[in-house]
Amino acid sequence: MLISVAIPKPIRNTFTYEALPDVQINLGSRVSVSFGNQTLIGIVVEKETSDKKISSRIKRINAVLDSRGDMPIDILNLCLWAADYYHHPIGDVFTNALPALLRAQETKSNLFVERKLSLTSLGHELNRSTKKLSTKKKLLFGLIQKEGKTRDALFKSGIKPYLIRVFLNEGWAYWHTTKREPEEKTPQRNISYGDLILNRDQENVIAQLSLKDENKPFLLQGITGSGKTEIYLRAIEPHLERGGQALILVPEIGLTPQIVSRFENRFCTRVSVINSSLTDKQRAKAWIEAKEGENRIILGTRSAIFTPLKNLGIIIVDEEHDLSYKQQEGFRYSARDLAIYRSHTERIPIILGSATPSLESLFNAERGKYKKLLLDSRPTESHPETYRVVDTSQFPSREGLTQFALRSIRKTLASGKQALVFVNQRGFCPILLCEECKQVATCDRCQVRLTYHQTTEVLSCHHCGRIKSYPAPCDSCGSSRLIQLGVGTERLEKFLKDVFPEEEILRIDSDSMRKKNSMRLAIEKIKEDKPRILIGTQILAKGHHFPNITLVIIVNADAGFYSADFRALERLGQTILQVGGRAGRGKHRGEVLIQTQFGNQETLQKLIKTGYQKFAEHLLKERADASLPPVRYEVAVHTECPEQDVAVDFLQNIKKGIAKSNDLSVAGPLPAIIEKKNNRFRQKLILISKERELLHKKLSEIERFISRSKLPRGLKWSIDVDPLNMV
Ligand code: ADP
Ligand code: ZN
Ligand code: ZN
Repeated sequence: MLISVAIPKPIRNTFTYEALPDVQINLGSRVSVSFGNQTLIGIVVEKETSDKKISSRIKRINAVLDSRGDMPIDILNLCLWAADYYHHPIGDVFTNALPALLRAQETKSNLFVERKLSLTSLGHELNRSTKKLSTKKKLLFGLIQKEGKTRDALFKSGIKPYLIRVFLNEGWAYWHTTKREPEEKTPQRNISYGDLILNRDQENVIAQLSLKDENKPFLLQGITGSGKTEIYLRAIEPHLERGGQALILVPEIGLTPQIVSRFENRFCTRVSVINSSLTDKQRAKAWIEAKEGENRIILGTRSAIFTPLKNLGIIIVDEEHDLSYKQQEGFRYSARDLAIYRSHTERIPIILGSATPSLESLFNAERGKYKKLLLDSRPTESHPETYRVVDTSQFPSREGLTQFALRSIRKTLASGKQALVFVNQRGFCPILLCEECKQVATCDRCQVRLTYHQTTEVLSCHHCGRIKSYPAPCDSCGSSRLIQLGVGTERLEKFLKDVFPEEEILRIDSDSMRKKNSMRLAIEKIKEDKPRILIGTQILAKGHHFPNITLVIIVNADAGFYSADFRALERLGQTILQVGGRAGRGKHRGEVLIQTQFGNQETLQKLIKTGYQKFAEHLLKERADASLPPVRYEVAVHTECPEQDVAVDFLQNIKKGIAKSNDLSVAGPLPAIIEKKNNRFRQKLILISKERELLHKKLSEIERFISRSKLPRGLKWSIDVDPLNMV
């Protein structure tokens, strides 16, 4: 039998191997094969039995691996489709889809067994009779006297390896191996709604969700706090009752603790969380459990879209507009779009939810591809927040804050409420300007400014991670007279501490939230009303429900207006409403102050006066007029290379090779938004068309062209379908 195997390497084709006919091999089976001088684990994507004599050049596979970690046919097809759609090497798609443990080595059977340290009868006796034990020994006896504990659990309780060795050597304890039982097979039936009754809008949405006449994806557009999560809960309930599973995708950032407990409390069942903080072992376990139908609710970030689910009943994509659903390097897939594909092929419902849907999704709803469901009001007592522009060209600001903003903070604090100050910049300040030669400190590897971080006294490049100690003289002239310009979270924190010395102030950004659990602790503190002023970046902007915040200040909304990215305004609108939505989630009316020089700008006025829908319609019209996505389709070819000219020439050649067509516009080579990163110059070619098929054809042409030509040394290229122009 001949089989085609996808190898975990960035290679576009699959490889043929021979397998003996009597071994059981399925599509999706994992096989160990020799590849060059390596032994790798590949996935079987095709098989054929043939009578022809097999060429001696074809190698035989080494082994078929344990089937528990095999890829089910649904996921195999998803991967094949994604490799095709994103024009990405199939082996690398599998690398993204399959947990590391399942592709790096043979599935260890110990994935499902646990070793626990338990007391022997001698140990029990000693524990009962002797009073004179050291504190440490007492602690360990105490920990394992009722039931055994795993090594990890013991380490967490502060037990050191040598102490375990002592217990083993003395014969007081032994390792006891048990099969790990699945935590729970079926969810318990007692679903607890509390005293929550759906309001009319929600009832209406639920009624539409249950209509089965059309199988379109649902786009649930509901302002922040309008009860979208409640809809998700109700929507998955019937699937769980029927024994099905639900897959819920959430964005990368800090959202998970709150949403996890809401699902767990409602259904009294464990939620299996799949995100980047899992260990390889946990990830492999979660994958296999989901595949075998043991976990009922799977909640995860981007890569969770590849989780195999035995009885998948429904998919939810929360905050569907969020950028983190699109992988920005390597295999540039969109988890949201793969979710739509998956719901289609598995014939199950999908709900995309957001207060500020992406223009793509709104456009899809407009032309009837999605069914739109609306939630316009908040079911609780809370009122919609009001938005107000503070014109920074008229009102000067100190350390980023206008007098008006400071007064509002003071009033908010006086009334016993909390204020949130949002700035999309971590560190102290983003610009360090030399007073002598007027040069700005930049990273020598990237074409970006260095950010000054006061807490760690460094200059840091937020793109390559390079760090320089501070103070340091100007790179160009050696002067030490450097001016700190611009405002980051640290600077605001320092300033607000000076102005409000009595108040507790909490800064929330990826620097201050580096430690595990710090986000959860911070959220708890905020809910207890401890810090009165919160300063934060994006990670504070999303999903959280803080009833006591009544004032939100958006420190600098200017960048959205002069960015080179045509999506910048869309993002700005989404950010303003998402951050703004943190105000007034309680009983009291919230206020949002937007500090900007562009207060009179038409789109901004539309946003705050008429809401997101009108704002989005306005932007969609602009996109249509300019023949830009989502009204047209877009793909890009990215290159990066140590030499600028080489990258440009390479793309120029590709451009020349593309056959002209009326329905196609080709732009570039253009510099990427970050033109130089890590000493590599980045250029791109952009192809735009009304016809998706045409773009796919062109990309295939480009792939063939590149595979025929000699790749310049050091040049890397990649294809981006439906790019988001981030970097
Ligand atoms: P969203 O996900 O749209 O931000 P949530 O589902 O989190 O909204 O709802 C916001 C708040 O309103 C939550 O505290 C939720 O428990 C509450 N809530 C939702 N629906 C209702 C309802 N019908 N009656 C009362 N409270 C509700
Ligand atoms: Zn200088
Ligand atoms: Zn850098």
